[in-house]
Amino acid sequence: MSEAASLVRLQEIDLKLLRYASTLAAMPQQKKMKTIDLAKRKVASELSKIVGQRKDVEIDIADLEEKLNHYKEKTLEVQASAATREQNYRNVQDLESQLTSLAKRIEKTEFDLGPLHESLEKLQLAERNARLTADRLDQELTNTRSSYEKDSASIKKQIVELSEERTDVVAGITPAVMATYETTRKRFKGLAVERLVGNVPSVCRVKLQPALYHDLTHGPSIAECPYCHRMIVTEEVDE
Ligand SMILES: [Zn+2]
Repeated sequence: MSEAASLVRLQEIDLKLLRYASTLAAMPQQKKMKTIDLAKRKVASELSKIVGQRKDVEIDIADLEEKLNHYKEKTLEVQASAATREQNYRNVQDLESQLTSLAKRIEKTEFDLGPLHESLEKLQLAERNARLTADRLDQELTNTRSSYEKDSASIKKQIVELSEERTDVVAGITPAVMATYETTRKRFKGLAVERLVGNVPSVCRVKLQPALYHDLTHGPSIAECPYCHRMIVTEEVDE
């Protein structure tokens, strides 16, 4: 294969590789995987919020239960001390007032615990649901990924084959021509090389003036199009 033919083939390969890459990117599973990923992140941040709230409520409950136990123990102590104390009016009054005050505190603490237990139940339920959602999303992601792997396998195989061929083709092109090709293809979004078909360049299709045509066909087989400045292959190349 001549260098000019290699250059034409290189461009064909690169255009195909670009097309395959965009086919892969456009596969519905790609979009779905991104959506699942977003949902996973949202659930994870909700879950950590819920877990934080649940732990706070657990600490509040533990504090109140400790107080409650303390009041109950104190009540038992006061009741026990009643048996050992002299049963005069003052002592009875004093004991009764202590017991009443403790009973009130117990009642108040039990009352305060009620809504905390309700919150805890709600948070535990929310946490369970968030964990289930996270598991479901993980499963969905695994399924989508394997469906993507399956559907993209043949394209990936062709990409590998083309990449191998590309290496061979590049070996037949001089570094200077390669460098021009790389900069030109960036400039023209992939379409860096055109061929001369009769006296018309295949991409810009501006008919060459006779003098320019003469210069091109009598110069090197890889030149620059005087109109669009792409690389132009002037020798006959099979597609
Ligand atoms: Zn041109």
